[in-house]
Amino acid sequence: MSLVVMKFGGTSVEDPAAIGRTAAIVAGRLALGKQPIVVVSAMAKVTDQLLRAAAAAAQGDRVGALAISSRLRSRHRDTAAELVKDSAEVASLIDLIDQKFDSLDEILRGLAAILELTPRISDLIVSYGERLSSRIVAAAFRERGIDAAHVDAREIVVTDSQFQKAVPLDAIIERRAQNRLLPLTSVGQVPVMGGFIASNEAGITTTLGRGGSDFTGALIGGALSAEAIEIWTDVDGIMTADPRICPDALRVKVVSFEEAAELAYFGAKVLHPATILPAVRKNIPVQVLNSRNAASEGTRITSLAPHCKSPFKSIAVKKKLSIIDMVASRMLMTHGYMKEIFTVFDQHRCAVDMVSTSEVSVSLTVDSNDNLPAIAADLGKLADVKYEGRKALICMVGEDIRGKNGMAAQVFAAIRHINVRMISQGASEINMSFMIEEDDADEAVRSLHAAFFKDPDPVIFDVEARKPLTASSC
Ligand code: ADP
Ligand code: ASP
Ligand code: MG
Repeated sequence: MSLVVMKFGGTSVEDPAAIGRTAAIVAGRLALGKQPIVVVSAMAKVTDQLLRAAAAAAQGDRVGALAISSRLRSRHRDTAAELVKDSAEVASLIDLIDQKFDSLDEILRGLAAILELTPRISDLIVSYGERLSSRIVAAAFRERGIDAAHVDAREIVVTDSQFQKAVPLDAIIERRAQNRLLPLTSVGQVPVMGGFIASNEAGITTTLGRGGSDFTGALIGGALSAEAIEIWTDVDGIMTADPRICPDALRVKVVSFEEAAELAYFGAKVLHPATILPAVRKNIPVQVLNSRNAASEGTRITSLAPHCKSPFKSIAVKKKLSIIDMVASRMLMTHGYMKEIFTVFDQHRCAVDMVSTSEVSVSLTVDSNDNLPAIAADLGKLADVKYEGRKALICMVGEDIRGKNGMAAQVFAAIRHINVRMISQGASEINMSFMIEEDDADEAVRSLHAAFFKDPDPVIFDVEARKPLTASSC
């Protein structure tokens, strides 16, 4: 049985038309003799709105929170009513949607009384997005003749208790995925489950972090040793840059697991950074595809990618970063000093993206977060500390960058008009990264793209789709 995990993102289930397209794509895979397992995100923007409702309630704005919930209720009810025509099916689906919103409203009212939003309650509130979308999608599939069975992802994806960024417990997931999903697929049913949501071993709802539905898809694919993991989204695949920043971005036909992981980690939102790991462990190819343009071949992520004549495959940008500069009279090279610095970050559970040192100073970059003043206060015991937000990290990914002469000169010549705050090259053979002001980031990506994708290798890039260059584009 050729199992294929198909993950559909928020835009692929955003309204009745999108869910209809998704159903047609799944039916197409069935017609090819594949056995799909479907993982869906919440409908587009729903997670953000649930978080907004939670924040409003926690500030005592009960009316505002319930108004957001009421708009979401209407959107889900209307979508269900448009997709499912069978009167008994639609009645029970709408009843179920109402039950879920009734319990969500109860939580929001409670929150507005308690005025304290814990990560655990936040996860419970956002989980409604995927719990609702997966029910609607399963019913819409059945209406279109697909034998779909809804499965609550929280029964399968078991994690630790780090709410909002829970870590999956692979062995339990493998066992549960096999016990729960294989009996369905073995009789040709198509399981439909929400991504992103999970539960700890006590059955309390957790989530895998924003964008985590990709991760769910990969975890399920890994647990069942699927033949392929397909990530269906709203662009033609992994592109040479974010097409929202650079409209001339080209589809990358194939990248290695390693390259995709670097791109995802350094900000290419098209893929959640943790997606690659379960696929690598079992050597399962991942395909990124466009649900609005199913005919496009997408991007194939595999263990080995063919040699690329162009120096870079793609440019990623990660915004909302901060830089922390530390100057110490105590010498940096002193034994154990760096360890003390990193212990502070560890205690605050704060990941460091980039590090640069000199004799008496260290600079580090981290995600901007509310903990920065506390981190800086603790670091202040070791050195003079300054920190600044609104920074962006640009990451250029390509084959063997370290081994190519003059690469750095070409990169910095392309952005000679932009001030570079920090540089890192050498940690990885396939990435060159540097930090600039966030306001300069889009311009930097466009300049770099114009410089390095003038003559792209047709083996790797979809050059045929290239739009004619205009003066206003890059
Ligand atoms: P989904 O809801 O399907 O998970 P996301 O919004 O999380 O979709 O990711 C898709 C978006 O990622 C695209 O619309 C695009 O703007 C953005 N993106 C950023 N970098 C890239 C890149 N290198 N290639 C393709 N898309 C990218
Ligand atoms: N719905 C979640 C989010 O918006 C997970 C996902 O879409 O991948 O972050
Ligand atoms: Mg996503």
